[in-house]
Amino acid sequence: MVKPVSAKKRSSIVYWLGNNLYLNITNKCSNNCYFCIRNFKNGVGGFNLKLSKEPSVNKVISELQNVINLKNWREIVFCGFGEPMERLDCVLEVCRWIRHYYGKNVSIRIDTNGQGYLINRDRDVIKELKEVGVDKISVSLNAHDGETYNQICRPTFDNAFESVLDFIEKAKDMFKVEVTAVALPEVDISKIEEIAKKMNVQFRAREYIQGFW
Ligand code: SF4
Repeated sequence: MVKPVSAKKRSSIVYWLGNNLYLNITNKCSNNCYFCIRNFKNGVGGFNLKLSKEPSVNKVISELQNVINLKNWREIVFCGFGEPMERLDCVLEVCRWIRHYYGKNVSIRIDTNGQGYLINRDRDVIKELKEVGVDKISVSLNAHDGETYNQICRPTFDNAFESVLDFIEKAKDMFKVEVTAVALPEVDISKIEEIAKKMNVQFRAREYIQGFW
């Protein structure tokens, strides 16, 4: 059985929950959501996800290499205490490595706040993710309109909500896309579900537990 390193011992770049392997490649994020788990905890599942420094691509790959053969993982997911699109080139390199050494045997998912085009203004983010073999994208929308989004997610960028919608629209042509929202008191979940339905993408509501996602 794969056992987590004690959360107190060291920060984890790679961690796992059930049959999924997760990659925590950055602690940077273009949002500052008031409900973000980073404000309340050091990690999840016994793993410490507060990074002392951003790992190099080689470090991410070597940590992944240590555990990738320990189990028949269902998915490898870019999801940690930060936004993976803050390190697009790292994501692309690691995906290339996975596809080179493991082919299509494992699914790759990106969990994102959907601000990839704001963070990487001169890049064709969706196309680049497709080219390296990403299978699925899960976008945290978390609000039914721009005003609510700004209150809850406190983004660095202007017009972030509109850009997230645009990201979903572009991504759905190339990937399986899921939109998620935390059931926060300020949020009209049925309206978000309606947005997802109109965009023809899956929707999943996540329970709000204070101090957790
Ligand atoms: S987008 Fe995600 S990582 Fe960023 S602040 Fe919000 S909950 Fe935290």
